[in-house]
Amino acid sequence: MYDIDNVRKDFPILTREVYGKPLVYLDNGATTQKPLCVLDAMRDEYLNVNANVHRGVHYLSQQATDLHEASRETVRKFINAPKVEEIIFTRGTTESLNLVASSFCDRFMKEGDEVIVSVMEHHSNIVPWQLQAAKKGIALRVIPMTDEGDLIVDEFEKLINDRTRIVSVTQVSNVLGTVNPVKEIIRIAHEHNVPVMVDGAQSTPHMKVDVQELDCDFFAFSGHKVYGPTGVGVLYGKEKWLDMMPPYQGGGEMIESVSFEKTVFEKLPFKFEAGTPDYVATHGLAKALDYVSALGLDNIAAHEQYLTRYAMEQLQTIPGMRIFGTSSHKDAVVSFLVGDIHHLDMGTLLDRLGIAVRTGHHCAEPLMTRLGIAGTVRASFALYNTVEEVDSLVAGVRRVSRMF
Ligand code: PLP
Repeated sequence: MYDIDNVRKDFPILTREVYGKPLVYLDNGATTQKPLCVLDAMRDEYLNVNANVHRGVHYLSQQATDLHEASRETVRKFINAPKVEEIIFTRGTTESLNLVASSFCDRFMKEGDEVIVSVMEHHSNIVPWQLQAAKKGIALRVIPMTDEGDLIVDEFEKLINDRTRIVSVTQVSNVLGTVNPVKEIIRIAHEHNVPVMVDGAQSTPHMKVDVQELDCDFFAFSGHKVYGPTGVGVLYGKEKWLDMMPPYQGGGEMIESVSFEKTVFEKLPFKFEAGTPDYVATHGLAKALDYVSALGLDNIAAHEQYLTRYAMEQLQTIPGMRIFGTSSHKDAVVSFLVGDIHHLDMGTLLDRLGIAVRTGHHCAEPLMTRLGIAGTVRASFALYNTVEEVDSLVAGVRRVSRMF
């Protein structure tokens, strides 16, 4: 394990007070705080290196390019992708999902074809497919779940048919915390020669991801949820698919040559990276991944699992407590409601006690419909959270509950 007191020193924001109370930051599913090494690296790059990448022959441009491309290699290693060309920098999970939905559908889908998603997807893994559905007349099929929040794999098997072109599922639910059996889903899909896209926004910060072991065809995650900067994310795709897919956007960086008659696109990964990339953010992301790797994802997972179990046990002692997502495969997220207290009231009053949680539908409205509720209160844990912070949450929820 790691020394939590030392780790917290890497995140100065955690020593802040809000409304005169020590901050208890439990909104990590939305975004995580950044360690000093990430902030220092980015500041240092702006102070000492800054120049646009790829296009310059001069010293600074080459140095910035080296940092940017070294970051791509760090990402490759982090998710164990076979080739660095298969790592595409995007603005985040949302853009990665839009890229695949758009380019994959352009190349491989026609009217009547189907894409399978699950009932617990974030809007980012629903709406991009719906945009394509509206343009091309393709249909969405939805994997259902049990009341505990486990996907029903048998039902998934029944949904696959000869019109299925792609499956796109989240590895971890941002509301329920369920860790989905994506490896099994991928195996089944591959038996039908159907590729699988995995939304790793909520898994990458909490567990070791190995895209070769999963054998997924595409994998997306966001830098800001894994202690990196905002505005940068990753799409991994198997070369065989990416090679066949058309570019998502046009512009500089993604071309080999341009004339008014004909444009030749760059090779991978640049074909999918139009415009100046956020090269300072990619450097920051690499530092964040190094930071997480140095602590050890197994250690982080063990710590967060402990916090999650402890929070579930303690919250359940509060009268009227309803926890959503009670799968035995569960990650660092606890969603709940107490009696008929509105989630917004609970969140607002917890905030006054210094406790930052998220409230609402968490960009998963179809899941809310499945659960028959409008929203939840969500506490989500990170590598720097403590047992004392869980105690503060539980005491806060108890106090607010008594007020109603
Ligand atoms: N997918 C899941 C499961 C998420 O939880 C989120 C963000 O909360 C996203 C996708 C979208 O991530 P971003 O807004 O960083 O693109």
